[in-house]
Amino acid sequence: MVGIVIVSHSGRLAEGVAELAREMGGAEVHVETAGGLALEGNPIGTDAVLVAGAIERAQSDDGVLVLMDLGSAVLSAEMALDMLPEDLRASVSLCEAPLVEGAVAAAVAAKLGLSLEAVAAEARGGLAGKATHLGHDTPAVETGPRQATGPTRSIVLTVELPHGLHARPAARLVQAAAAFDADVDVANRTAARGPVSGRSLNAVATLGVARGHEIEVTATGPDADAAIEAVRALAARSFDESSQADHPPAALRAGAPVSVEGALLGITASPGIALGPARRFHVPELDVPERSASDPAVERRTLAHAIEATEEVIERQREATADRVGREESAIFEAHLLFLRDESLLGPARRAIDHEGRSAAVAWQEAVAAAAASWEALSEDYLRARAEDVRSVGRQVLARILGVPAPTASLESPGILVVADLAPAEAAALDPSTVRGIVSATGTPTSHGSIIARALGIPAVVGVGSGLLAVTDGTALALDASEGLVYVEPPGAVTARLEKARAALASERRAARVEAAGAASTAGGVPIEVAANVGSVREVVAAVEQGADGVGLFRTELLFLETGPASEGQQTDVYRRAAQALAGRPLTIRTLDAGADKPVPGLEQPHEPNPFLGVRGIRLGLDRPDLLETQLRAVLQVAQEHPVRVMFPMVATLEELEAARSVLDRARAYIGGSPPLEVGVMVEVPSAALIAESLAPHVDFFSIGTNDLTQYTLAADRGDLRLASLADPLHPAVLRLIHRTVVAAGDHGRWVGVCGELAGEPSATALLLGMGIRELSMSAPSIPLVKRAVRATDPVAAAELANQAMALPSAVAVRTLLAREI
Ligand code: PEP
Ligand code: MG
Repeated sequence: MVGIVIVSHSGRLAEGVAELAREMGGAEVHVETAGGLALEGNPIGTDAVLVAGAIERAQSDDGVLVLMDLGSAVLSAEMALDMLPEDLRASVSLCEAPLVEGAVAAAVAAKLGLSLEAVAAEARGGLAGKATHLGHDTPAVETGPRQATGPTRSIVLTVELPHGLHARPAARLVQAAAAFDADVDVANRTAARGPVSGRSLNAVATLGVARGHEIEVTATGPDADAAIEAVRALAARSFDESSQADHPPAALRAGAPVSVEGALLGITASPGIALGPARRFHVPELDVPERSASDPAVERRTLAHAIEATEEVIERQREATADRVGREESAIFEAHLLFLRDESLLGPARRAIDHEGRSAAVAWQEAVAAAAASWEALSEDYLRARAEDVRSVGRQVLARILGVPAPTASLESPGILVVADLAPAEAAALDPSTVRGIVSATGTPTSHGSIIARALGIPAVVGVGSGLLAVTDGTALALDASEGLVYVEPPGAVTARLEKARAALASERRAARVEAAGAASTAGGVPIEVAANVGSVREVVAAVEQGADGVGLFRTELLFLETGPASEGQQTDVYRRAAQALAGRPLTIRTLDAGADKPVPGLEQPHEPNPFLGVRGIRLGLDRPDLLETQLRAVLQVAQEHPVRVMFPMVATLEELEAARSVLDRARAYIGGSPPLEVGVMVEVPSAALIAESLAPHVDFFSIGTNDLTQYTLAADRGDLRLASLADPLHPAVLRLIHRTVVAAGDHGRWVGVCGELAGEPSATALLLGMGIRELSMSAPSIPLVKRAVRATDPVAAAELANQAMALPSAVAVRTLLAREI
């Protein structure tokens, strides 16, 4: 890589320019500075000795580019050349480019591995973007001839960044495009500029891409697909500008979804393709039994208690949403609370009880219907939509009065579910025969609603932005969920293309499913257990059909999301049915992992400022050892008859593991037997990975929960859409923790599995196996393709790939490496 030297009269200026250049080009770009004089007390001036030293430090096989500010800086640089040995001097180019713009353009070009001549040309063209922006004529930026032959792919993107494609995102675009064996061109379709080479920051800058402009990126060459995919992924991450507090990602801004080819762009939560009408949740009305009212005072009290209880629940939901998603999104609950206190609803209900002899249920039902009807009579769409809110709170109160569970939401007829957010309990109740696809305004791929959608095999796109909510019931939608795209009223050509792709995908999945029935070993013969993550017996049955070698994670808390914890007998029955469905394959039961985004009725926590850092997982189990022991007894009962494993979630310390094991010992003593039972811990907290050697003697296996391990390692809430690109399980920090766990486990003869969502990504299979992972557990629909990936893995190449990935500095670099491998 060409080295760069910045020569300035001021040391601080030189350092500042170097800092800017490194930010644009990346930390790997070698930038040295020579600013001011060597003598103390003379901060301003230039010094040939300092310049010569900087050139020597920056030297590389590809040469050194020297950029200077004015006057004596040029003379000092020339003198410095004379001081250098002949061979080094020959590979140094003094360049007249403007200092700041030239340094930035040169750094980006150097990072791409361009020659000294090409880097110097980029530096010289550094003023082009500024000139275009200010409306001055600029000579075309010379970017050399197109060379690649092969397939051509293109993508059209709308840039929603507040300052358009300014220097930093443009630099990222250039780097993303240049990582592949393909020539990439970029054109500004809105301003009719270009196409220009995507390998030149200057050329891209001359396109003058402002906010709202449409750009077209075209790649030609063997890696055209991968290059376009990298650009698409970068755009989906708002060009990695999301970490800048002043630049929220476009997908998040209300009403401003990112669009690609006219589609809304979100994040893949569950891959696949779906077409159909938009559908909102439909909630059936409750039947109010005929019964004569008792004393009005009693009916009024019944109504008041039901309202109070509903208020408490809504208040808790409001706090949880505000903590997890944000104040703005929690506003809907505030509106619900206001409805419950609204005299126009309460007044008529009370009067009907007092003066018309109605029961609380009937009086309330009538008052809600009347209030909803008056909202519906309004002319504004927005206000009319409030009728559904009134009905929603009305139903909750009515269910309390009647002492029945609130009715669950479903789709009235087949279609694509459109929701603001998908709660785990709602997701668990979905019927895949009517829900063809799911699109949500917020949410992330590792939020539990998404995990369940994936388990059910329903294509889903999350994080599309609140603009989605304007889509009305019945509007035609097409979901290319694998690409994170949602087409609203798609043109015929898009529908035809997606129909075809859906048929091809289905036949590929069918073929993979046939192969998936057998066990999978790597090309080197290492057997790998490819298991399923499940939350119900129904899912176990589906998992076996997909070729699961067992269950690697039974999320038992999902059984209790609506009903609260179950008795020992009920749990034994569920686990036994799950084990029977597995017909001798292992069943790994995780003890209750309630808390944070999985609230279980009856186990609600007092308000926690940071629920993900609060009492959840094993902490809750040890806080309520009675519940943990009940569950372990049920596990042991079934272990007497079937191969069963148990594992504890969220273990952070050895003491927690020891305490959990003592509860297990008590459960064993209670049932009076010692059936074979492999005991493991989930590695989800960095501390567990870092003390794996101390935990290993006390367990039979580790199962790495990459969803939580990633959120805790990168301090990025897994449910927060704004942090979706930060919470990347392929970050080298996460990979190093996984590897550390595998090494410590191996020293004690223990095996390690992965059950976070990463396990289900076929593109990560070789990497995980290369790190020594022996079991992969995932949403069942991913099993066939992951088994294929296992069989295609060469262990020696995989180990090399793992070593390379762990040594990289960023998740983007790891993804680029994997894309290249594929
Ligand atoms: C994980 O954290 O990776 C995991 C598998 O557990 P859950 O997603 O249920 O928190
Ligand atoms: Mg977890």
